[in-house]
Amino acid sequence: MRATVMYGAGDVRVEHVPDPQIKESTDALVVVTRAAICGSDLWPFKGMPPSETGRRMGHEFIGIVEAVGKDVHKIKVGDLVAAPFAWSDGTCEFCQVGLHTSCLHGGWWGGAELDGGQGEAVRVPQADGTLYPLPVGRDHALMPSLLTLTDVMATGHHAAVTAKVAPGKIAAVVGGGAVGLCGVIAAKRLGAEQIIFLDRHAERIALAQSFGATDIVSERGEAAVERVLALTNGLGAHSVLECVGYEESTRTALSIARPGGAVGRVGVPQDETMPVAMPTFFRNVTISGGPAPARAYMDALLPDVLEGRIEPGKVFDFSGPLDCVPEGYRAMNARTAIKAIIEF
Ligand SMILES: [Zn+2]
Repeated sequence: MRATVMYGAGDVRVEHVPDPQIKESTDALVVVTRAAICGSDLWPFKGMPPSETGRRMGHEFIGIVEAVGKDVHKIKVGDLVAAPFAWSDGTCEFCQVGLHTSCLHGGWWGGAELDGGQGEAVRVPQADGTLYPLPVGRDHALMPSLLTLTDVMATGHHAAVTAKVAPGKIAAVVGGGAVGLCGVIAAKRLGAEQIIFLDRHAERIALAQSFGATDIVSERGEAAVERVLALTNGLGAHSVLECVGYEESTRTALSIARPGGAVGRVGVPQDETMPVAMPTFFRNVTISGGPAPARAYMDALLPDVLEGRIEPGKVFDFSGPLDCVPEGYRAMNARTAIKAIIEF
């Protein structure tokens, strides 16, 4: 089959790889029908050291189950399934409390050992716990929005949940990538009264406003902090969604949380330490977040997609077949595209 392999910074290729096969009795084989390129795929695209063997890419996909191991009972051949960006058994101590990204028998797609989502097929470990059957046909019109449940919409939701967004509160979203845009959707869905969106790109701002952003802050650094304070009677936001992961964005996010407020961090941190330790301590700011348990959120988010209350699929502004994956990486890295969907 053909799949996406990253060989180093800027060097991503679509090439022939071994066909996946059932290895464990709890595996399923999924033929991919839709996949996406994630903002987090850009981290290796920007800085991965050269590799002889390469690294398989992609962790957001939907597909049709082609085969299952003998211990797979919930997932059936022929099911259309969504795969969250981490696989998990669904039964361990952490899965039981909805923290599937810490599954004791789980893990992450791609790398050197496992298939990634940006390929024609995937061996799925822990199929019963991982895969989520979708009650629609393979080319349903809502497919882009359904695909966002595997990562970006779930991640934006996780930012909002861990930032304690609630009815009547002021939310601020730092970062206008697909996750930040989904964070706006999530903040509105959870009842935020004011949603401040921090980004400077016109098309992202327009999309954020269509999703429910009430105020736009295009300044950066200290000027952004001052602007948010001005928009919140000098108090700051109750809930801040950090959707980037850089030192500067984290500093901004932590600086605009009001006393007693909360910051949900979902941008993968690019630094070892966290800034603003002293001020956030004295303001009693809760600092939370992490990798979203997308599998846990599907029950809550799927009906909102199917019934049209949210439309996160609007974040896709680049589409093409598998051959277009390298172009999709380049477009997202150059910020000429927000997010790419791959159609098989
Ligand atoms: Zn588990």
